[in-house]
Amino acid sequence: MNDPPPPVGIDLGTAYSAIACIDAAGIPQVVANEMAELAMPSTLLFDAQVFAGREAKERREFALDNYADGFKRDIGKPYFSRPLRGQSVPPEVLSGFLVQKLVRDAKPIVGEFESAVVTVPAYFDSRQRMATRRAIALGGLTTIDIVNEPTAAAIATGYERQRLGLASERYKILVYDLGGGTFDATLLVVEDNVFKTFRTDGEAFLGGRDFDACLSEILASKFVEKHGINPHSDPFYAIALNRLAERAKHALSDQTQVQVQFEYAGIAHEMTVSRGEFENAIGPRVERSIMTCQATLADAGLTFADLDEVLMVGGSSRIPLVRQRLQQEAGRPITLHAEPDQVVAKGAAVYCAMASRHPSIPQDSQFEIVNVNSHGLGILGVSLETGEQANQVMIPRNTQLPAQASMAFTTAKDNQSNIRVRLVEGESENPKYCTHLGRGTVKLPSGLPRGTVVHVQCQYDRVGSISVRARIPSTGVDAVVAWNGEGHESLEPLGRWRERLCSRFDGETPNGDVRQSQQNQTGKAGTPWPSALPRDTSLQADSERGRILERLDQLYRYVADHCEANGESGGGTSSEFGLAQVRRIGERLQILESAQKAILAARQSAPPLQDDVESKSHLSTIQIEHHRLTKLHDHLKVEAGRQRFDSPRPLDIDDELGNEIRRLTNWLLEPDSRISPGSQISSGSRISPGY
Ligand code: ADP
Ligand code: MG
Repeated sequence: MNDPPPPVGIDLGTAYSAIACIDAAGIPQVVANEMAELAMPSTLLFDAQVFAGREAKERREFALDNYADGFKRDIGKPYFSRPLRGQSVPPEVLSGFLVQKLVRDAKPIVGEFESAVVTVPAYFDSRQRMATRRAIALGGLTTIDIVNEPTAAAIATGYERQRLGLASERYKILVYDLGGGTFDATLLVVEDNVFKTFRTDGEAFLGGRDFDACLSEILASKFVEKHGINPHSDPFYAIALNRLAERAKHALSDQTQVQVQFEYAGIAHEMTVSRGEFENAIGPRVERSIMTCQATLADAGLTFADLDEVLMVGGSSRIPLVRQRLQQEAGRPITLHAEPDQVVAKGAAVYCAMASRHPSIPQDSQFEIVNVNSHGLGILGVSLETGEQANQVMIPRNTQLPAQASMAFTTAKDNQSNIRVRLVEGESENPKYCTHLGRGTVKLPSGLPRGTVVHVQCQYDRVGSISVRARIPSTGVDAVVAWNGEGHESLEPLGRWRERLCSRFDGETPNGDVRQSQQNQTGKAGTPWPSALPRDTSLQADSERGRILERLDQLYRYVADHCEANGESGGGTSSEFGLAQVRRIGERLQILESAQKAILAARQSAPPLQDDVESKSHLSTIQIEHHRLTKLHDHLKVEAGRQRFDSPRPLDIDDELGNEIRRLTNWLLEPDSRISPGSQISSGSRISPGY
């Protein structure tokens, strides 16, 4: 049987990226990556191979000219803000590497897929949207649709509400999205499952990175105060301090002060930063975000009081000051999403399932999205007053899409062969402050007299892609428009970029898979997890009912293993999905455990150090986690087997096994029916190989 590919949503964030899919129970799940993280840092490092995510982030201070982050801020521009290894690199190439990594890590868990819904900030202009599509294509996927991040967040919560039977028919919602690098305020009206964006505004340079920089400044000035030297004057230490600052920032969301140890120029210094100091530093930026919300509401003739909900998403909305200020301003309780950095990817996956009519979600719950343009669309013309080029806005911002507008041009001479138009996005009259989308050349038929009117029509489709047409009313003929967008029309595949940006290829498998080399380092490749670990038997039941349950567990475990051995992909049932996730986390813990053991073994001969004590404590934390996961894994395996057995999909197992399961379940349901559970039951019995 050919199952449809899983519905997948991708949130390519400035700071963190995530990929989500819908499990068989219709619940959106963010897929853990190879490092067992639900959100992968949007960072890359080009060394002998391409490192993406955490591995790149952890090494960044050792790699100043081959490390890239924050490239989402440059998307739509020709090149990333800094050359990498002396080369100018288009930002979509960098995003493409992230997509490739997300996809590669997700496939073993969710199964094969070739397309996805991807999210972008609502304020992204059409060039940025086109560049994002190119990034997805470079990463090996087709874009099913582009959804604005706040809309995706609203869809995720709307879908959850619907699942829980809490949906209301009409509500106004403000999505406040403060992420790693960007801020977005979006007003949506949800009515009869139509998610209609009303207004959107935001800032491309406001987010967690700025808060890290504020905290890093505080730490640097404390260091200067004490020792008279500034760690920020050395790029290596500036980056290291910034990294510490991000960690300290996270801690300050939960505690009122934090200690930071930092060593620079041979001086180790411990500094205390209070939440108050941090709040003072970031206060003005937080206020800016609040003002943007007010302006967005005012533009729609609303105030906070008119809203049914204020939804906070984005990792930075975990900062208490941000929450307090928004709550104060709103004068009402606000919803801080429990997973503010996962909700966007989940919403994208929900929308993907709806767009592809995937059977995992109810067919009667179809959401529709109505977008607005986040920037005005204009044509450059010559201002009659100043004689200078000026932007003439044709479609004002926040117009509901699809939208179109046309402008009349008049030929300046007889037999004019073409008219050139330049399209821009932006509100300013001054072309300097607008985004140039490209030039169109309207090819005119020969013989037109001077003064012929030509209508140039620009159109946004429902997701904000632009097309241009021209028409000559006097002849009733459509003129041909040759469009020359000012972006990268075609880019070389990632393999070529990898060759250019990576110094050598040792350690990398030919298809660029970095996993293999990593596993070899630990010597753990291929070790099945955690089947090799003994099962906890302390709670083994001794009553008859207990022994039957125990036996059923064994049989269901067998079914789960059997299906996996027969190549059934993960994700078929929600427990299978969970199982694959847990297994991945377990593999990661096992790697960490071996690493900690190796550190301890290497130090055995030396006198004990503080570090040893820490390593031992890390080791025992890892082992406790491991034990917990082993139990969870076992539980999920039994569940997966049970769900698989109960599912209507055909199951290729021995009849005897099926009969035994049915007999035992019946006995559990009706113990008085006195059907003998069978003689095979004995504590600790093994499944006979006959199955
Ligand atoms: P983006 O979508 O822009 O990539 P996210 O929504 O994933 O961003 O949020 C990432 C940002 O949230 C980072 O700057 C990160 O440091 C910040 N963040 C995550 N958790 C916390 C926390 N507990 N306290 C403060 N900031 C946090
Ligand atoms: Mg985000």
